[in-house]
Amino acid sequence: MSNEFLQFLLFLLAVSAGWLAGYYFRPRGESKKRDTSSSYYKGLNYLLSEQADAAVMTVINDLPVNVETLPTHLALGNLMRSKGEVDGAIRIHQNLLSRPSLAREKLHQVHLELARDYISAGVLDRAERLLKDVVDESEALRGEALEHLQHIYQSEREWDHAIAVALRRLPPRSWLKKTSAAMPVYRRIECALSHFYCEKAQQLLAEHNLKGASAALQSARQYDRDNVRAYMLAASIALKQHKPQLVLELLHTVIDRQSVFSSEILPQFREAFADFGGQDAYLDALLRIVKSAQSSAFIIEVVELLEARGEKDEALGYLLDATRERPTLGLVSKILASPHAGEEPSLALMKELVSTLRSERPSYRCRQCGFSGRKLHWLCPSCEQWGTITPIRGIQGD
Ligand SMILES: [Zn+2]
Repeated sequence: MSNEFLQFLLFLLAVSAGWLAGYYFRPRGESKKRDTSSSYYKGLNYLLSEQADAAVMTVINDLPVNVETLPTHLALGNLMRSKGEVDGAIRIHQNLLSRPSLAREKLHQVHLELARDYISAGVLDRAERLLKDVVDESEALRGEALEHLQHIYQSEREWDHAIAVALRRLPPRSWLKKTSAAMPVYRRIECALSHFYCEKAQQLLAEHNLKGASAALQSARQYDRDNVRAYMLAASIALKQHKPQLVLELLHTVIDRQSVFSSEILPQFREAFADFGGQDAYLDALLRIVKSAQSSAFIIEVVELLEARGEKDEALGYLLDATRERPTLGLVSKILASPHAGEEPSLALMKELVSTLRSERPSYRCRQCGFSGRKLHWLCPSCEQWGTITPIRGIQGD
C-alpha cells in the first residue's frame, strides 16, 4: 500500500515538473489558448478519480511533446501499464511516436516502452518486431531489448530463437571462461541457455532425432556443467541406444553434481541394470549409491530387491537400521507396510496418518522463491528462473 502511495507521489512530482516545463519552455510566439495549469489540474483530477481514459486524453491533447515533457509522458504510460490499463499506455506511447520532433535515441526508448505494453497485452508478435528494431538500431538499449526478446521466445517455446538471443547476450566464450564466475548476470544467462538446449533436445527426441538431441545436450552441458537435466536426458538417449555402461556413467554424474536428484534417476538406473542383468551387481550398485547419497528411494529399492530374493529378515533389518540412522516418512511407512511390523490397531492408525501426510506434502520446492508443488518444473512457474526447483529433502522428503 505504502509502496503504491510512494509510486503515486513520485508520479505527481514527474507530472508537475513536466507540466511546468511544457508551460515555460513552449515555443515562443505560440499564443496560449488554453490555460495549461487548469488542464494540469483536470488531468490530475481524472487520475485521482481513477478515470484513466480521461486522464490519457487530457495528456495527449494538452501536454506538448518535447525533451522536457517526455519523462512525464513516459511516466504516465508506465503508470497506466502497471495499473493494468494497457490500452491507455499504448495510446500514450503511440502518441509520442507520431511526433517527428523526438530525437532517434528517444524514439528507441518509446519503442521499448511500447514493446513492454504489447507484452503486457499479450500481443507478442508486435512486441517482437519493435524489439528487433531496437536491437538493430540502438546500442544503448540493445541489452534490455534482447532480454525482453529472450523472454518472448521462452514463453512461445521457440527454442532456436531463444538460443540465438541468449548467445547474443553473452560475451565471447574465451572471455566468459575467465569472468563468468564473477558475473551473476552471465551465469543466469548461461543457465537459461543450457535449459533452452535441453528443451530443444526434448523436441528432437520426440521426433526420434537422437543425433540432433545428443548434440543439443552437449551444448547444454557446455554452458552449465551442473545442469543435471542434461545428463538425465543424455541417459535416456543412451538407454534407447542400449548402452547401459554409458547410462550409469551419466547417472553417477547426476549424483556427483546434485545428489538431491538421486530419487529422480532411480527408474533409469533400474532400467540400465535390467539391460545388464545380474541381481548381485545391481544390489552392489544400489548400496554404493545409498552410501554416498543417502536416498530413501534407493534404500527402499534395496529392501524390495532383498524381499524379492526371499531374504525377508535381512530386508527388514536393513530397513530398520537405515530408518534409525535417518528417519524419513518414506522409510517409516515402508516399515509399517512390512508384514513383520505387527498388527495392533494403533499401528493401523499410524499407518493411515503417515500415508495421508505423505500424500499431502509437496515434493518439489524452488530454492529461489519457495514455490512448491507435486510436479518437477525445470522453469519455476513463480519466479521464472531455470533449474531452481529441486526435490524436497529432509524428514518429509527423499
Ligand atoms: Zn521460483
